[in-house]
Amino acid sequence: MNKETHEILNEFHWLMAALQNIDVGLVILNTNFEIELWNGFMQNHSARMPDEVLGKSVFELFPELPESWFRRKADTVFVLKNSAFTTWEQRPYLFRFNNYRPITSMADFMYQNSTIIPLTNVRGEVEHICLIVYDVTEVAVNRLQLQEVNTQLQQLSRTDGLTGLLNRASWEAELVHEYQRYQRHQHLCSMLMFDIDHFKRVNDNYGHPTGDEVIRQTAACLKENIREIDIAGRYGGEEFAVILPDTHAEGALVVAERLRKKIDTLSVHYDGLYVEYSISLGIAELNPTMNEPTAWIECADKALYQAKHNGRNNSVIYTEK
Ligand code: GH3
Ligand code: MG
Ligand code: MG
Repeated sequence: MNKETHEILNEFHWLMAALQNIDVGLVILNTNFEIELWNGFMQNHSARMPDEVLGKSVFELFPELPESWFRRKADTVFVLKNSAFTTWEQRPYLFRFNNYRPITSMADFMYQNSTIIPLTNVRGEVEHICLIVYDVTEVAVNRLQLQEVNTQLQQLSRTDGLTGLLNRASWEAELVHEYQRYQRHQHLCSMLMFDIDHFKRVNDNYGHPTGDEVIRQTAACLKENIREIDIAGRYGGEEFAVILPDTHAEGALVVAERLRKKIDTLSVHYDGLYVEYSISLGIAELNPTMNEPTAWIECADKALYQAKHNGRNNSVIYTEK
């Protein structure tokens, strides 16, 4: 072996050692999608040695790799001789590898970005492509966690801590939305407002924490007695409001009475004591004379006031006098 050949071989050897040990996956595929190079990263994560994979179709060995999608990507590399990219956001991984990193225990597989580059031969033809696989689990998990926290924060900022119902501001935003929808479609829509009767006495006789429990259970009872599309909010301390889409006043009265009777028979157990209480309800059906959202609330509020005036523990539909 002359000196020049020796040096070339040495260089080739070093290069292979470097590729073998680099911390990204390297796979070389021919036009039949058979594997011709499978580096250490791929061996370690797939637990498959080169003698198991070389010369075999990547699709047969890794059925999780979507064949038609990958072929389309690879074809542009073969034909146009341009690189192609895939990100974990488009597809979490190409090869399903387990994730062993302790800090990212949230993911049980490795998130991957990948690049496919054309490998030209001495004639300038692309007979092979190189797939470079990057482990981006940490970035992906951080991003996903951040998104989840943001969603939770958004949810928290919309809801009331004690009851889990919409808080006043977000309920009012829903009210405006429903009012605007009515301007366009004139669909039926009613509002229910209710307030716990003599709640000051509950607080005075049983203490504030028991009062809180009464509010919590009232909200729970409310949630159980309305439909998915109804929009319930905690309007004030012990005041609640519900928008009932596609419901006329008489329909809302049925809901109101069902709720009132449930609460009337409810006994809230807290701190060894039982509290019995009632609610008064006001109903207002949206109509064209209500020229702004607040007018609708005022009508429901007037009906509620009337229910209190009638002796409490009853429901009243708003009527214009
Ligand atoms: P009415 O039948 O006329 O409604 O009489 P009421 O005693 O319920 O009178 P009102 O609605 O004016 O009183 C509301 C009371 O609710 C006053 C306030 O101290 C109490 N309250 C408001 N928010 C909370 C809360 O979050 N927890 C508790 N425990 N009490 C609250
Ligand atoms: Mg009140
Ligand atoms: Mg009250």
